Order: sequence, then structure tokens, then C-alpha cells
Amino acid sequence: MTFEVTLLIIKGVQKTSLIDYPGNICSVLFVGGCNFRCPYCHNSELVFDSPELPVMFTDEILNFLESRKNFIDGVCISGGEPTVHRGLPGFCGRVKKMGLLVKVDTNGSNPGMLKMLIENKLVDYIAMDVKGPLATYENTAGANVDPDTIRSSIGLIMESGVDHEFRTTVVPGLIDADDMRKIAQLVKGARRFAIQQFSNGSTLDTSFQSVEPYPEDRLEEFREIVKPFVGSCEIRGT
Ligand code: SF4
Repeated sequence: MTFEVTLLIIKGVQKTSLIDYPGNICSVLFVGGCNFRCPYCHNSELVFDSPELPVMFTDEILNFLESRKNFIDGVCISGGEPTVHRGLPGFCGRVKKMGLLVKVDTNGSNPGMLKMLIENKLVDYIAMDVKGPLATYENTAGANVDPDTIRSSIGLIMESGVDHEFRTTVVPGLIDADDMRKIAQLVKGARRFAIQQFSNGSTLDTSFQSVEPYPEDRLEEFREIVKPFVGSCEIRGT
């Protein structure tokens, strides 16, 4: 399938990352805009697509990737939320034609876009945030979320055969051990799961800057809860 729209405007680039694509060296591309407002988000400039951010057009980015091709295995497209952009499938196709792997980070709100990427073999790795148990998703995502879209995205990803991970940022006051049990049930059978430490350095809702992150032993406790349900479970960000 060819895609009419192949343009994706990039608002930030990290030339080389050893941690954003498990097992691979990648460049990270950040898109602007997001349909969630997670109160603990530390990317508010990208979420609000601030006019202060640099603008890089598709051809410029593709030329940049061409020049990096011998130093990286792939590209991680992050944000913001990549799946709100119509140009994502066409852009992924152009990157894959260069011989690079494509990883997409997503909040899981657009199962239709994920299906298109999967069915057209435009993505090699999907990392989806699971913000919390479905019943309280609006609190953790800071937006109206239809729980069925989240459930659909999780199912699609797990059945796709595409390498994947799910991850949850554990914010005190929003996520506790009982929530982790519910999340573990939701992603039962997933290949990888990551428990992400919350950082209070710069948050979209500034009241979260006074929330102290969980100590490491609580993160270990959460890991023990999730571990039996998934292929592997790691703690990140400590
Ligand atoms: S943390 Fe939430 S608000 Fe921030 S980019 Fe991710 S989904 Fe959007």
C-alpha cells in the first residue's frame, strides 16, 4: 500500500540513544501534540506543540537519517503522541525503505492507526503506555478516554507478532499496588513490561512537582506483582 501523506513534522531529535529501542542503537524523533494531558507528563512543550520548538520537515529528517544510517539500527518515533499524525504510516514506510528499524511510542488511544502500521509492516517495535486501570484512566491520562480503545490497542499489539512492551509510570497518589494488579491483568501475556519511576522535576500539572517519587523498594514490590503475568519486567528511571 502507498500512503498519500508521508509528511511528519519533527519537533526534536536525539541523535543517538542506547536505551530507547531495546537491543538497538537508535535516533529518537519527537513529534508535537498529544491528545492526553497526563498530570505528571514532563514533555509539556511537546504536548502543547509549543511554537518555541524547532521545526524539522520530513526531507530534512530523512537526509539526517541517511547520514546516520551506518551508526544506528533504527528510529524511535516518540512525542507527544505519534499516532495523532496522519503522516505517520507514510513516514514509517520511508524510514523502513532506508533499511532502518522503526519503533513507535504510543499512548494507545488510536488502535486504528496501530492496526494500519501493523498490517502494513511499518513498525518493528511498539511501546505502549498503560496509564492505569481502565476504570480510572481519565485521572491518570488527564483526558476523556474510551476504555475500549485502550483495551483494543493492548489486544492488537499482543496479537500482532510485533515486538512490544507496555509501561506504566508509577506516580504516588495515582498508582498503587492494587492498581498494578489490575494493570498486570490487562497486559497478561505481554512480552515486556517496564515500571517507570516518576520524576517530579518538571510536570504538566505543577502540583505534581511536590509529589515525592516512590522509594526503590516500592518499585520492587510493583515488579513482583507484574512479573508473573509478563515475559519480563524491568524497573526504569531510578
Ligand atoms: S505522558 Fe501523557 S501527556 Fe505526556 S506525551 Fe505521554 S501521553 Fe501525552
